[in-house]
This record gives sequence, structure tokens and C-alpha cells, in this order.
Amino acid sequence: MKDWREGALPGEEFHEEGRDLDEGIEAAKLLVNYGYDALDVDVGCYDAWWWNHPPMYQKKALYLDYGKVMKETVDVPILLAGRMDNPDTASKAVADGYCDIVSLGRPLLADPDYVNKLRGDKARCIRPCISCQEGCMGRIQTYSMINCAVNPQTAREGVTEYRPVLASKKVMIIGGGVAGCEAARVLAIRGHKPELFEKSSRLGGNLLPGGAPDFKEDDLALARWYETELQELKVPVHFGTAVTKEMVADGHYDTVIVATGSTPKVFSLGDDAHVYTAEDVLLGKKDPGQNTVVVGGGLVGCETALWLQESGKNVTIVEALDKLLALNGPLCSANKEMLERLLPFKGVKSVTSARVKKYENGTLTVEKDGKEESIACDSVILSVGYRSNDSLYHDLEFDVPELYLLGDAKKVSNIMYGIWDAFEVANHI
Ligand code: SF4
Repeated sequence: MKDWREGALPGEEFHEEGRDLDEGIEAAKLLVNYGYDALDVDVGCYDAWWWNHPPMYQKKALYLDYGKVMKETVDVPILLAGRMDNPDTASKAVADGYCDIVSLGRPLLADPDYVNKLRGDKARCIRPCISCQEGCMGRIQTYSMINCAVNPQTAREGVTEYRPVLASKKVMIIGGGVAGCEAARVLAIRGHKPELFEKSSRLGGNLLPGGAPDFKEDDLALARWYETELQELKVPVHFGTAVTKEMVADGHYDTVIVATGSTPKVFSLGDDAHVYTAEDVLLGKKDPGQNTVVVGGGLVGCETALWLQESGKNVTIVEALDKLLALNGPLCSANKEMLERLLPFKGVKSVTSARVKKYENGTLTVEKDGKEESIACDSVILSVGYRSNDSLYHDLEFDVPELYLLGDAKKVSNIMYGIWDAFEVANHI
């Protein structure tokens, strides 16, 4: 802690105003003298929430060094949590003497069968926690409910158990993002016959650009998990297939699910040769150059800016509202507050309450407080939201008797609502 309600950031030089390590060591010795059998080592407090509830912006296994200190201080077993979801990392932590027991919290919300799968040599089938804290800590804060973004059954087991089917339906699923994949998974488990069509060569949809920054690696792990699940469940997946109205009619399906996702919104700034979408940059299709401006300070814009800045670029965010991350929510405060502080700490500049006017000859013109300002930059990256891809649904609307629209194609949202929406529909067909 740097001050009241002010946590420090990883790598930051600061004076500790809260409980320091020396005090923690003395407390540990006293507790063991009083008879405690084991100690669970943690870091942080409610003033520095991103330490005891680490978001994806914290590195994995972030408490290892503190565990080691405690192992050298007391002679009772040391338990350690903190982004220890990778089984190899966890095993190594025990083998190398950083702790005696690894405790898992969020990974068990994401997959309560974590340990059984590991024991059964099926680690690839463990559903990954993505450290989003949207369904767990975020929902505790906002709704006093603990759930999980990637597992719609968590803490709702009684009302979400799989409903086996009496009559199996042939279901066409169009789109292999999280909503399409989740629908295919749940339908196959229940006994239906889903068949998935994806126009690109990979499953995952928006997980793929979203997972490009190294701190979002678990988004890619989630995409891989869906691939594995659909293989295990023997769901036919047709890649490189853009579904047409004729294909739907020719397939004679009982049910059709349209989960065609969303497309980034764009607008013209004049010299558009160097105006890209965040998706293009995240997927490596476009090189933004050394100096770039991200237009839009929502979650995607801020994470893109952080990733580019950390990879050595000079990034400025321009946001029309009066603060960053104003419209995304409710984000868990641990995630939001850490990201808000990381951006300036890493050197990302931001201009709020400003509107972009034009980009010409390497200069972006913005209007703020009635005055025009110029920002020299090699590119402009638009991150101003997404538009639902629902045209195929409307083409089919009056031709297919049992037709559903899911995920971003229905309403642009986030990973959690895409998965939950798909689960609810697929568990009731
Ligand atoms: S809501 Fe997110 S952080 Fe929480 S357990 Fe689920 S995947 Fe992990």
C-alpha cells in the first residue's frame, strides 16, 4: 500500500504504508507459537485489492517469493494460491520448496472437476479460469452472488443441471465464437446432434484478438478448451464455411442457431490508409508503427494500448467521455482500478472529453474544450465498439421454424454473457 485506498503496482518503487513483510514474518511466528497447524500465505488487502484478488494483469504464481519467505520462517505447512492454475507451475512450486500445498479458488469455480481431470490425465479438458473476475468477485460486489463467467453452472447447479433429451434434434450452429461453441457443447452433452460451421479456420471468435496480449493468454486457452471439448464430444466442425440461406435450407435441420458474432465499428478520418481496427492490430494484420493513437478508452482500447506500450510503442488514448473505462461494467474493481493505474504507470498518455476530427499527413486532429489539438502519430487504431452481425438471422427469420440468435449477434456484450446466453438456450432446446 502506498496510501489509504492506494495499492502499489508490480515493479513500482514505493514506501510501504501498510503491513510490511517484516511484520508479516513476526505475525507468522506468533501464530505458529499459538498453535496454528498451517498458514495460507496471501498478499494485499482491501486497499490494494489487485494483490489479493489478482486480475490477468498480474503475473501467474505471483506469491511464490512470499511463500518461500514463510517456508524459511516457520516449520508448519505453507499453502499458496494466486494464479496457480497451471498444474505444472503448481507442481513445481511444491517441488522447489515455495510451498507445501497449492490452494485453488477461481480455477475450481471455472471447473469443479479440475482435480479429477488432472488425476485422470485429462489436464487438457480443464476449463480455464480467465482471471476476468466478472462472474466471481465482480458479481459478489454488484449482486452479492458468486458465479463464473466461463461456467454458467457455478453456484447455480440446482437450476442449470443438464436436461437429457428424449428426442434428439439435428442442430445447425453458425459461428464458432464462444456462444456457438458453448451451444454446441451443451447440445452434444444433452444428446442432440449439433453441427458447427465457422467461416474462418479457427474456433474462438473474439477470443482470438482479445487473447493476443500476453496478459490475456487465458482467453486463448479458453478457445483451445472449446476445440478440445468439441473434439471429445465428436461435434462435426466445418471450417472455412460461410453459411448461406441455401445451405440452411438444403441441410434439413430441425433447429438453427445463428451465433455470427460482431464486427468492429469503423468510421472515416480522411487518410484511412493508416487507420486500423484494434482487431487488425491485435491479430498482427496491421503494424501500427512506433507512435499510435487508440481512439476509444473502453476495455478493448485500454488493453490494446497497454499491450502496445509494453511492447515498446508510444501510445495515446483519445476518449470522448470524461474518463477511461466509463462504459464497461460492472467490471470487478480489482481489475478496473489496476488497469486504470497501469496505463499511466507504463507511460500510456490519455486525452479525455475529446473528439477525433481527422487524420491527415501523420497528424490526428482532436477537439477538446472547443479547441483543436494535434497529435503526431504513425497510425490511428479505432476501438469504438462492435456491431452485431445479424443479417443472416433476419434472412432466415420467416423460413426456419426453430431459429435462435445468440451472443454478440443478438446483443454485443462480453465473454460471460455470450457463454451464459448460449448455455441457457442450448439447455432448453
Ligand atoms: S469469473 Fe472469471 S475470474 Fe472468476 S472464476 Fe470465472 S473465469 Fe475465473
